[in-house]
Amino acid sequence: MPDNRVFVGDLTRKEFRERMEQGVIQAAVVPTAATEQHNEHLEMIHDSLHVTHMAEHAARRLHPKVVVATPITIGVSEHWMTHVGTLTARPEIFCEYVYDVCNSLKRAGVKNILILNGHGGNVKPIMRRIDEYREKLGVNLRFNSYWDVYDPDLVKEVMENDRLPGHADEFETSTMLVLDPNRVHTADIDNDAAALGSREKGEKLIEPAVAGVASILEKMIAGEEVDRPPVTFGADGRIHMITGDPV
Ligand SMILES: [Zn+2]
Repeated sequence: MPDNRVFVGDLTRKEFRERMEQGVIQAAVVPTAATEQHNEHLEMIHDSLHVTHMAEHAARRLHPKVVVATPITIGVSEHWMTHVGTLTARPEIFCEYVYDVCNSLKRAGVKNILILNGHGGNVKPIMRRIDEYREKLGVNLRFNSYWDVYDPDLVKEVMENDRLPGHADEFETSTMLVLDPNRVHTADIDNDAAALGSREKGEKLIEPAVAGVASILEKMIAGEEVDRPPVTFGADGRIHMITGDPV
């Protein structure tokens, strides 16, 4: 069987060390997500499962140049704490934890690090710190959510309600119907936006996300500029930029 292991935790220390010494590993992905309520019908693992999938499959396309750190699966979810079962971290704790993982990779000699996110609540906290972290680490450090890579025309074409990522509605229901349909509790869908979810839509949206993340990594390794700012796609059909600035 060909070796397509990409997770750091799946390598022995010898394998990791030798790949670093030989200049094989050129970039690392640090997946960040959440364990939080996803309405009545999606499981709380949703964002973590998605970002891990995108990171793993993008890294495999560039194997063995890219490794994936252990996903950080509890994020900033204070806004959902009224729904019991949600797990949250304070923004400063979350950011510092992400920083420490990036710093571990930097200390191993990794020069290109992509923090790949799968949960909206993490975006602003990291955007507020990313320039400082890049400077402190002295490496090529980027932050993007996996949906940042979508072409707006694709979103318009595939989605009926252009809101993306949204929360447990058309987009997330569609992609989970592809990645693991057993995790979509269809009998419990209780809102119109989630009812728009379909497997066909999910199939059209997963591959471009993997390809887009792989393309960011390729550009980072090549030392090229990446023009993919953090965004969300609004139900109004517009793209909204996200910065760390207070609103
Ligand atoms: Zn989500």
